[in-house]
Amino acid sequence: MRPIGILGGTFDPVHFGHLRPALELLETLGLAEVRLIPCGQPPHRSPPRAAAAARLAMLELALAGQPGLRVDTRELERPGPSYMVDTLASLRAELGPTPLCLLLGTDALLGLPGWHRWQELVQLAHLVVMHRPGWELSAAPAPLAQLLAAQRVQDPAALTAQPAGAILFQPVTQLEISATAIRAMIAAGHSPRYLLPEAVWEWIRANELYT
Ligand code: ATP
Repeated sequence: MRPIGILGGTFDPVHFGHLRPALELLETLGLAEVRLIPCGQPPHRSPPRAAAAARLAMLELALAGQPGLRVDTRELERPGPSYMVDTLASLRAELGPTPLCLLLGTDALLGLPGWHRWQELVQLAHLVVMHRPGWELSAAPAPLAQLLAAQRVQDPAALTAQPAGAILFQPVTQLEISATAIRAMIAAGHSPRYLLPEAVWEWIRANELYT
């Protein structure tokens, strides 16, 4: 059974630093699909600047016409804080033993021990870490370092051999792009063009977002 990739984020706005790694992992790991899951209420950070409907509209524009990448709106439909452990549990209930791969940037991996019931995440899914520029693993806190020592694998075949439990580091094209920087550029009157899909940038301008 081919694994399904899960990329959660605020997508405020979606940019090529999300999209390019998602497509590369879809293809290099032979995933059945990658679901981009916009967060409803982020539990670990300040609320997104753009409303849920706007973040969803931008994601749909970004993914239009790309087979294998799709939006999953379950976190927007669920009331309360959007805990990834609840999201993975609901996917697991729907998809049975299909392997699930939670795709994380290195920054997100280092913050994992702060996530709600974080030790259950790797019981529900594999973790696939996409290298993000500027983040070093030597900074991993002790409980995370222990988890990595116990569950890190080198061979992507582990992702199909079992439904969950492996941690794989997979190189992706490194793109030093962040939504924070894009919002700051727009607020300063500068253009974020070529950092995100043109259709998303047009939508942002038409709706006067982040100004
Ligand atoms: P913000 O700047 O608002 O924090 P962001 O650009 O980091 O946003 P998120 O929506 O918070 O984007 O990120 C969702 C996921 O995508 C996280 O796992 C994050 O590590 C990953 N990610 C974001 N940008 C990149 C990038 N340039 N390269 C690799 N992974 C990325």
